[in-house]
Amino acid sequence: MRSPWTLAEPLIVDRAAERRDTFDLDHALAVVVRHGAVLTRDGRLELVEPERRPEAELIVYLGVTEGRDVIAVVPTASAAQDVPADLRMTGLREHIVFTAHGGEHGARDRELGATAVALATWHENHPRCSVCGDPTQPRKGGWIRWCERDEREHYPRTDPAVIVAITDPDDRLLLAHASYWSPRRFSHLAGYVEPGESLEQAAYREVSEEAGLTITDLTYVASQPWPFPASIMVGFTARVSDPTLRLDDEEITEARFVTRAEMSALAADGSIVLAPPGSIARTMIESWHGGPLA
Ligand SMILES: [Zn+2]
Repeated sequence: MRSPWTLAEPLIVDRAAERRDTFDLDHALAVVVRHGAVLTRDGRLELVEPERRPEAELIVYLGVTEGRDVIAVVPTASAAQDVPADLRMTGLREHIVFTAHGGEHGARDRELGATAVALATWHENHPRCSVCGDPTQPRKGGWIRWCERDEREHYPRTDPAVIVAITDPDDRLLLAHASYWSPRRFSHLAGYVEPGESLEQAAYREVSEEAGLTITDLTYVASQPWPFPASIMVGFTARVSDPTLRLDDEEITEARFVTRAEMSALAADGSIVLAPPGSIARTMIESWHGGPLA
């Protein structure tokens, strides 16, 4: 994997799980998050001082950075209307692209943004107990939801999906277009891990189902939290000795193996649109290509 891939390094923000019940709310910095977007200033994640914090519908404890507690704040609907003129709410995908270019605190901000969006989305989508149906309440700094009736704890979910960069005997890379993607969008084959299978088995199965290919040399590369709404993408490389494609054309409408020169030309003239910079998909493509693509 091309550097810098900071997701292969330890967490930058200390999650300080022991402080989830006791953190210093009055002095905490806040990431403002709502409906999958985070508050930014000139593209950078804004850490809001306590006196400027909007009225909160939900608070989640994120940890300690540079000696300060940091929380995620979901503003109330009315407070969410009052975004100061020099700030704006930025969708997490756009924020991942921005932080991909590094810069001061880029990796830390990507970590805070992804965690804030993942947890806020989980709370938004899971207001009730999945067993008895009663409303649940946030506990442990927002890392648990508690059902009073049956004294049950509910935890945030992360659903694994595998993504596989496949090369043929000529070291060409497979690019595929899924039926539900926007036009000209091409990427690797990918799919959710199903119950009862390993990550590797999911990769073998998805590639076989979607493209009729038998892969070998399956090798783990890296992973990336992808909270849209609750995934983690697990990246692999693999090879095929027989590149004959048999597409599941309900799911994959187009696929082909491309050389590096073809990839450069297709990306440069806009014939294809690749996954955004900062995504594991884009990083695996550029890792194979040997450098950045347009
Ligand atoms: Zn319950």
